[in-house]
Amino acid sequence: MLRMSTLFVRTLREDPADAEVASHKLLVRGSYIRRVAPGIYTWLPLGLKVLSKLETIVREEMDAMGAQEVLFPGLLPREPYEATNRWTEYGPTVFKLKDRKEADYLLAPTHEEMFTLLVKDLYSSYKDLPVVLYQIQTKYRDEARPRAGVIRGREFVMKDAYSFNIDDDGLDATYFTMRESYQKIFQRLGLPIAICRAMSGAMGGSRSEEFLFPCEIGEDTFVRSPGGYTANTEAVTTPPLPELDYAGVPAPEPVDTPDATTIETLVAVANDLRPRVDRAWEAADTLKNVVVTLTHPAGERELLIIGLPGERDVDMKRVEASLAPAEVEMATPEDLKAFPELVPGYIGPEVIGPQSARRSEDEPMALRYLIDPHVARGSAWITGANEPNKHVFNLVYGRDFEADGTIEAAEVVAGDEAPDGSGPLEIARGIELGHIFELGRKYSEALDLKVLDQNGKSQIVTMGSYGLGVTRTLAALAEFNHDEAGLVWPEEIAPATVQILVTGKGDELFEKADALAREFEAEGIEVLVDDRKKVSAGVKFKDFELLGVPYGVVVGRGLADGTVELRSRRTGERVEVPVGEAVAKFA
Ligand code: ATP
Ligand code: MG
Ligand code: MG
Ligand code: MG
Repeated sequence: MLRMSTLFVRTLREDPADAEVASHKLLVRGSYIRRVAPGIYTWLPLGLKVLSKLETIVREEMDAMGAQEVLFPGLLPREPYEATNRWTEYGPTVFKLKDRKEADYLLAPTHEEMFTLLVKDLYSSYKDLPVVLYQIQTKYRDEARPRAGVIRGREFVMKDAYSFNIDDDGLDATYFTMRESYQKIFQRLGLPIAICRAMSGAMGGSRSEEFLFPCEIGEDTFVRSPGGYTANTEAVTTPPLPELDYAGVPAPEPVDTPDATTIETLVAVANDLRPRVDRAWEAADTLKNVVVTLTHPAGERELLIIGLPGERDVDMKRVEASLAPAEVEMATPEDLKAFPELVPGYIGPEVIGPQSARRSEDEPMALRYLIDPHVARGSAWITGANEPNKHVFNLVYGRDFEADGTIEAAEVVAGDEAPDGSGPLEIARGIELGHIFELGRKYSEALDLKVLDQNGKSQIVTMGSYGLGVTRTLAALAEFNHDEAGLVWPEEIAPATVQILVTGKGDELFEKADALAREFEAEGIEVLVDDRKKVSAGVKFKDFELLGVPYGVVVGRGLADGTVELRSRRTGERVEVPVGEAVAKFA
């Protein structure tokens, strides 16, 4: 039983000066968290209660899908991160330090390396696989802009899970099971989530999705349609353009093209670009990205290829084929058959029809071809000024991504039809709460994690990594569940289910409140009793509203007539009930 008279809590009436978003303000005002330094927070008793309930839900769903919990240190030696190049690649985000012997250490921003080495340490046969391990642990990232309280902290709690399979099919299966576990977690929390295809970024890997909580204050931008189509636009809103790195590969020459206002010309352009795409692909081991700018009387066109180091097993033909339907806007599958050399193996009713997305008529011609080999997707935009409706596309094609759909939304304008025909796109903001990846063999190769297969042959293990920001999710819950007066926790994670407020002076009120509290506890219902003696009823009501316990039981004047008042924090509803029936209302 929690008692306000002794609980380590000091509620504040004023918003903290550094807080801009509601969750941050209310978590501080409600004494859930206290700031120590930018992006670094202390968890107070009420905050810790909510946090541990949230962790329990995450833990239950991880355990239910067969993942096993471990716990790594946060302080780690340099070597494993050196082996995967992340000591450098992660850049200034990593907190680095030296021990007294001048050896390099880091505070882990994420733990792929350690999990890979642990499995390598103990497992050696395909019979040991698959295995999924996870931890709920503190991570450190020296974020450039810590913000919004624990939404972007420099120390934060993450649930990170890692899967190990002998083959890609196994990895797919584990990935989808994990995806379902994430859906269950967010369902239990009552948080709406948009699952978006995402760039896998510095992680490497192929399939990758983010779990975004749609919210104005989010830092991620995504698109959604009324029919449920969603995709993140992170890949294109923050392309690594300023840091062009050709890593020894000669920068592509500009290409002159004729007026590309006709379908035929676009076909020619695409064909002309194809060898370059091939060459870029050849160099993909070292290539970061290539931008080809095509000069054109009507303005500029550009070909953008993003090729991150690593995975080579994407079928390039398929990626290239994504260009082909661009040339035949509004083509039927029948029409596409006229271009067999452009669309090998691609013709069929499963081809998603091109979507026309009109943009400004004054806009220069632009041809953009974006490839992210990690997510095995290709997309092309051809925008034009001359005949806007005809030459403006946004196109995303592919056997592999038609089902869950992906879109590079840089060129998307609100109101465009979604690629799956599920209605006009809306551009929205969201907070990334979870991120799941098929890492493939990047880490197992770098750290030499192999097992013997059925034939006694040594095989590199294929991996997945699955992150969920626990402290960030807590803040998202606060963001989603509050009103002007304070927090309104969902029952599953509230610090208590019932708050008993004593609003009067007589000893019998306090005794009754205590007795009620014990009755609630006997029913397994958690209680916070506001048994403060020198605090006014008004302050108690204000604190009840601020703290966000879902239900209030007011023990006050009514007790003389044998009643107490029940309040719903969420709806504001109040009812007087006979004191003997109060507990039964909740049981
Ligand atoms: P972001 O894009 O917001 O920086 P990320 O993509 O860098 O996040 P991941 O590496 O995918 O994050 O980590 C997995 C999860 O950890 C994220 O989905 C998010 O919920 C959480 N997370 C990441 N960075 C932070 C942070 N600085 N503070 C709190 N939670 C974080
Ligand atoms: Mg980040
Ligand atoms: Mg992200
Ligand atoms: Mg992420």
